[in-house]
Amino acid sequence: MSAVVPSEDELKQTLIALKSENTSLGIPKLHALLVAGHPDWTVSEKRTRKILQNEGLTNAPPPSSKQPRLYPSSQIIKELDISKWTDKVEVKDFGKRKGKGLVAKVPIAEGEVIWKEDPFVLAPEWGIYDLQATSRACAYCSTPLTDKPMAVECPSSISAAYCPARFCNRLCLTRSAITHPLLCPARNSAAVPLVNFARQTSWQALHSVAQCTARLLLAYQQSEEAFEADWKVVKALAVLGMEERFADLAAKGVEPDRAIWKKAYQVYVQAFQDPPTESAKKKLAKILKKPLREDVAKELFEYDGFLRSLGRMNLNQETHGGTYVLHSHLNHSCRPNISVRHLDQRTALSRITVIAKSDIDVGQELFVSYVDPDMGLKERRIQLAQWGFGACRCERCLDEEKDLPKDEDKGDLDGLVSELKAGFGVGGS
Ligand SMILES: [Zn+2]
Ligand SMILES: [Zn+2]
Ligand SMILES: [Zn+2]
Repeated sequence: MSAVVPSEDELKQTLIALKSENTSLGIPKLHALLVAGHPDWTVSEKRTRKILQNEGLTNAPPPSSKQPRLYPSSQIIKELDISKWTDKVEVKDFGKRKGKGLVAKVPIAEGEVIWKEDPFVLAPEWGIYDLQATSRACAYCSTPLTDKPMAVECPSSISAAYCPARFCNRLCLTRSAITHPLLCPARNSAAVPLVNFARQTSWQALHSVAQCTARLLLAYQQSEEAFEADWKVVKALAVLGMEERFADLAAKGVEPDRAIWKKAYQVYVQAFQDPPTESAKKKLAKILKKPLREDVAKELFEYDGFLRSLGRMNLNQETHGGTYVLHSHLNHSCRPNISVRHLDQRTALSRITVIAKSDIDVGQELFVSYVDPDMGLKERRIQLAQWGFGACRCERCLDEEKDLPKDEDKGDLDGLVSELKAGFGVGGS
């Protein structure tokens, strides 16, 4: 598909038509509609905005001067029963700014296993994903299938519509029903471009969103209770919107690649809501029989909701690509007191084991590090900025900041901007 830059007049006429059909929509949504309707066009949101403004077709108030919120917001899941994982910790609400966290309920000793947990959704590292895509790792739990004579194939795979999914055993196959039907190339061919796009761009958060939406939509088909439980988990995950995440960088002249967000949105909608061909539509309709509640459809499939989902997955993914309900409650410190390991590598690779790195007293908070704690202050800040956080104010950062010569502070910021410019795009996000 070659990129076409439409003429000013062509674009203007198209936007006027779109706006007259969708009078209540603001600029970003109109832009999303425009791009969705003309997938071959290359049009920046800036250009759309300028034309709509020139034509007097905006109904949004002027950009507000309020500071972007630099801390992700999260919610407590009230009904969450964490005793299925552990009795050693409890969820604590630290208030609006910091959100939720986990604190010790009993004294925990260094080296102690605090809990084990399987992922809520899993978008494994690409090396493992590639094994899954070539039938060499379990499509459910991601464990490599070497020496697994009991491995079972995806039952929907036929020669005309092949699915490479293999599972450790019947149990993994049965459990895969929470996401696989919607991501199976044999059952929902419309999802193939989405997953391929995530793979081509190495965009793990996008793959996670695909997995998460598949889970929610299938739970919705199953029962109201199943859906509500999952929906609560997702809505409670900390979220930092994509625009918010990049707001402070944009202010420094680093613009995110919004065109690629739009492209991702387009293949996402095609995968789960509006397949491009009649046969793909029929296949999807066989899986999704019950029409989606309006508020859910809105949150999952409007462009803003999609960006929130990306921001959510971005923030909550563990290094190896799983999103875990209890683990997602952990806050960051550059001096972490727990570590997260994948100890069951031969039976359940995606399962995490959370271990105390030092003694933890009752009431003390548990911290992981979102970055490699062996790095220096400057490197840590660069990486934390990529997570969408402001400068870390943990005990260790404050200590190290004091020792910093004054002029190095400024160098920090310049280095941060150039480094981010160099490594921008979607990689690692
Ligand atoms: Zn498995
Ligand atoms: Zn399959
Ligand atoms: Zn810190």
